[in-house]
Amino acid sequence: MIVDSCVGEQESRPAALDYLESMGVDIADQVKLVVATHWHDDHIRGLARVVRAAPKARFVCSAAIQTTEFVTLAKATGKRSMMTSSGIDEFEEVLSELDGRGSRLDRGHMFALGERLLYRHTARRHPSAEVWSLTPSDIAWRAAITELASLLPQARRTKRRIAPIGPNHASVVLWIRVGHVRVLLGGDLQETPGRHWTAVISSPTRPTGRSAIYKIAHHGSDNADHPETWTRLLSGDPIGLLTPFVQGGVTLPAAIDVARMCARSREVFITAPPTRPAPRRRERAVDRTIKEVTRNFRRALGPMGHIRARAVTSSTSPSVAVELFAGARRLCP
Ligand SMILES: [Zn+2]
Repeated sequence: MIVDSCVGEQESRPAALDYLESMGVDIADQVKLVVATHWHDDHIRGLARVVRAAPKARFVCSAAIQTTEFVTLAKATGKRSMMTSSGIDEFEEVLSELDGRGSRLDRGHMFALGERLLYRHTARRHPSAEVWSLTPSDIAWRAAITELASLLPQARRTKRRIAPIGPNHASVVLWIRVGHVRVLLGGDLQETPGRHWTAVISSPTRPTGRSAIYKIAHHGSDNADHPETWTRLLSGDPIGLLTPFVQGGVTLPAAIDVARMCARSREVFITAPPTRPAPRRRERAVDRTIKEVTRNFRRALGPMGHIRARAVTSSTSPSVAVELFAGARRLCP
């Protein structure tokens, strides 16, 4: 399965395609599931190419964005709209790719919702596997539909910035089990007190079993961290994985986030160190230093960082081996 997509600055292809091919995976035949957690640029770049390369895969995205309203709105507002981003463009490209295959539902296009079984595999001599979506919650789904629908009549007349339920509140969280190894992929799901993560944690019907590996939600931000995620969804000393996010003055994770995550688990890894963009106005000497530092940093960073976590799925108490590539590093001192 491939979850989200990214394309490195010096690369032309989505990273997941290069990686799977390097391991000898026949993408066209063997990839069974492609999941878009949400449509933000940092999660969706190259996804249309992934979908095209994996014609046998079932495409899954959040039910909160997979509504007629969302697609209609995205198309009606067009390129001049404030809401249009390369993420929306990419998402539209994915949808037209699926349209080209015939009816989306006929082709196994699925909407992720709370506690939905997306995939199950059983085969003799292989450990069984299953993939569940844990979000969007019913509350998030309903709110998204209501808000998007309320914006529709204005879509053609006014180019207004759309402010529906945040994409992050509609983000897909996945729970994966292969043999005895369980993985929680937190997407970019942010908490609103009493909702979203709270709904996941307090649900009596979610798949049971604590995960040993956690893709930390929303780049480790404070508003995506629910303390009970660590005590009720994850095993003791889970492996935490995340990517940094730097855009428009927002840098994640912040120092305080790093401290919080490392208090939860010592085994946290990040694909690249978070950097803060340089301020606009500064003295020439400072400018020069920053340029130097940035240049060195880029050189040190090289291509997009990559973390690989592997476990023997047939073992009843699997231990996870983490490997770091191209700038990825341990987060905790
Ligand atoms: Zn993100």
